[in-house]
Amino acid sequence: MDKKKINEILDQLVIWEPQERVDDRMHIRDREQTKRQLFSLGYGEEEIDEALDEITHDSRMVVDGVNITIPKKIKSIKHQPKLCELNCGQMLINQKIERSYHSWPEPHWRTKCTNCQHYLHPKGDRLVKGVHEFKLYYQRKKR
Ligand SMILES: [Zn+2]
Repeated sequence: MDKKKINEILDQLVIWEPQERVDDRMHIRDREQTKRQLFSLGYGEEEIDEALDEITHDSRMVVDGVNITIPKKIKSIKHQPKLCELNCGQMLINQKIERSYHSWPEPHWRTKCTNCQHYLHPKGDRLVKGVHEFKLYYQRKKR
């Protein structure tokens, strides 16, 4: 797999940390002038060089405003859409499933997909839209 292909795949999977634009950094041509100024202010040549090395870039290394010799950093992983785990058929990113306990009409748990707002039927075999299904189910069961 070549470098370009790897980058394409990574672009789909991750969010990159914004890269420092080289405009923020000092160009080599400005370096000598700055160096002379700092020198005249009494700084030592060695400490000036050390400091400038950190903020100076070689313009040959710049592509599209970014220094390509500085490795990119991953900021976060992109969340991939997944099929609803309660089988509503929707593709969801970051599905949250809520479980709640209810004591009426009789003690039971409810499982709800907070994305599609559907509940798992008390029998667990299908999804239902509203909580009235629970009332119906338990009232019928009582009879
Ligand atoms: Zn769902």
